[in-house]
Amino acid sequence: MLLSGGIDSATCLYLSRKKGNLNRALTIRFHGIARGEVRAATRLARAAGVEEHRFFSMPELMEVSDIGSPGRLAALPSTYIPMKNSIYYSVAAAFAEEVGAERVVGGHNSDDRALFEDTADVFFREMQKTLRTASARLREQDFRIWRPLRTMTKAEVVTLAARLGVPLEMTWSCHREGSAHCWECDGCLQRERSFRQAGLRDPLRDGKDRKGIKRVVSGQIRASREGSGRTDT
Ligand SMILES: [Zn+2]
Repeated sequence: MLLSGGIDSATCLYLSRKKGNLNRALTIRFHGIARGEVRAATRLARAAGVEEHRFFSMPELMEVSDIGSPGRLAALPSTYIPMKNSIYYSVAAAFAEEVGAERVVGGHNSDDRALFEDTADVFFREMQKTLRTASARLREQDFRIWRPLRTMTKAEVVTLAARLGVPLEMTWSCHREGSAHCWECDGCLQRERSFRQAGLRDPLRDGKDRKGIKRVVSGQIRASREGSGRTDT
């Protein structure tokens, strides 16, 4: 289970749990990952009672916005990480091979596809084929990539999350640093929009979280993480 701490991966985790699967979580720490994301992933993994939560650090892996001279990548969404899913799913498959897991689960919704080429069906089909070709163990354990949210919009994912009892107050969608969501960045705006479209109240929009805005705005904004297109892993 690739667990980023966002709503999509949290929903996958709870869906898999409901199906009675034994789950292990993998959180990839890339350069400049928001502490809120790591915190959320940690809490969610614990709440869902995963068998193991592993962190894999790749501090050299950067979003476009953090690459000093992005050059030809500059036109891409600022949260794009070059070859992100090729790398993430390779690491996840290595974990799966080690522990004998039959599936790697990723929370990619249909909104992601418009932004990121490496969330397309064809990419995952070929990736799965390549990974299976690389390992007799993976073939023996009938290894597959499972993307249960692939046909859902983000709003539909929120509806499903609420139905599954995902502790949405533990999830993290903000691109900025701080103890609370800023409600101004693209991640926050997308979260707000999704809850509105789903007709649901976001538990994070209570007074407690709003208090954090001031603190964030008063100097903890990491400008490099501004931008559009951030989606959950
Ligand atoms: Zn935000």
